[in-house]
Amino acid sequence: MKVVRTIAEVRETLRDAADVGLVPTMGALHAGHAALFRRAREENRLSVASVFVNPAQFDDDADLAAYPRDEERDLAFAEAEGVDVVFAPSAEEMYPPGFQTWVDVTELSRGLEGEARPGHFRGVATVCLKLFNVVRPQRAYFGQKDAQQVAIVRRLVRDLALPVEIRIVPTVRDDDGLALSSRNERLSGDDRSRALALPRALAAGAAAAREGGDPVATARSSLNGLSPDYIAVLELDDGVRVLAAAARVGSIRLIDNVLLEGELP
Ligand code: AMP
Repeated sequence: MKVVRTIAEVRETLRDAADVGLVPTMGALHAGHAALFRRAREENRLSVASVFVNPAQFDDDADLAAYPRDEERDLAFAEAEGVDVVFAPSAEEMYPPGFQTWVDVTELSRGLEGEARPGHFRGVATVCLKLFNVVRPQRAYFGQKDAQQVAIVRRLVRDLALPVEIRIVPTVRDDDGLALSSRNERLSGDDRSRALALPRALAAGAAAAREGGDPVATARSSLNGLSPDYIAVLELDDGVRVLAAAARVGSIRLIDNVLLEGELP
């Protein structure tokens, strides 16, 4: 596995690569990321993972400072998963002095996560566009877990005619049903048990929808005391709808969603 840190090195390394799959990550790698790496490896001749805690997508300095970082562990993890190239740039490499060019997927970035985290999706869209431009992948892999992000990245690619296919990988969960997340490391034992109400409520909502009931109302009444930031039906793509929710448990904000209709692209 090759580790590169500059845009020039990425371009040099991938100069003759014809078939590249990119998995953008912020590190703190877990089995959710591994599922993306596996798909990228299966569907491309070369798999590239970026490991970059993108400051532009954090609206809260404390959250950025608390984000788990362990590069040595991440590199060993990526290598064990068969990733060919890791791009781990510095913040200055991605945001050189004077940086002032932003991409804003206007409507889809409003509401839900965008409301709770102002500027978040502008940071996500901008870093994704830059990564696509640097790596030039044929395919890029994103997790279903971040449903609004998926909708925004697909819209970005369509609107700007970017030559990349976006693939969505189903959410990987722990045995108890909690969606794997780098933030779960910061949940205390009690909070972790309380957090399970989120996937359970979403599952109840999806089951109600299959019976012709109201998924949002059912999920809301199944939260077992957790108070959600939102529970909403979100369209990921034409005809693909998920039931998505966010809730704060202790100091951690958790998000999750389940498929209601359609198939992941
Ligand atoms: P992150 O490092 O949290 O920015 O995530 C990098 C990518 O991994 C994003 O596309 C996430 O949606 C995806 N991801 C994170 N957690 C999971 C999970 N539990 N299952 C599937 N994909 C995930």
